[in-house]
Amino acid sequence: MRTLETTLAWAVEGTDLCRKAVADLDEASYNAPSLLPGWTRKHVVAHVAANARALRNLMHWARTGEPTPMYNSPEQRLADIKSGAQLPAAWVTAWFEESAQLLAYAMSELTEEQWRAEVLTAQGRTVPASEVPWMRTREVMVHAVDLDTGIRFTDLPETFLTELRHDILGKRGLDTVPAVQGSAADITTYLAGRPYTGVTQRDGSPAEPLTPWL
Ligand code: ZN
Repeated sequence: MRTLETTLAWAVEGTDLCRKAVADLDEASYNAPSLLPGWTRKHVVAHVAANARALRNLMHWARTGEPTPMYNSPEQRLADIKSGAQLPAAWVTAWFEESAQLLAYAMSELTEEQWRAEVLTAQGRTVPASEVPWMRTREVMVHAVDLDTGIRFTDLPETFLTELRHDILGKRGLDTVPAVQGSAADITTYLAGRPYTGVTQRDGSPAEPLTPWL
């Protein structure tokens, strides 16, 4: 089982992975496709930055009791990603850094009681604020892979991958996902709806790809 302590550490680790992934990107490679359909690497980083800002709203909500939703609307969320992806490379990286640091600071401010405060996710789920570091972990770890600069699911912590599989199976619904076999990292890649290898159904036939998750 994941704890607040673990997920806070994973959020830092995943942020470092994203930081490393974008560190050497010039304008052209930043504008190149990511592993997510239709998204360049800039789209991915803009999304990760906007996510930090959105999750900081939830930290504010937990700390003050004032309802501050993650995003104004789904349209606004997409518009911000789109406009962020038009920014020069250095700006996108700067936005990523600033948003990540502000979120880290906001997460360092919460008292034990405030971590238990209930907040609402963009999907309309009511969760304790202590779920936020996990929500952030998923984003930074999985999108570090999506950036396609060499980080793979096999590079992510084993215990994180286990938690992620449970989470995805719970969200997708057990009956919508075929029973598959493969290595833990390959199965996680498959469940996340990312380009995968080495995953087959129990009878050895290829598994039907799933839509990208997150
Ligand atoms: Zn995402």
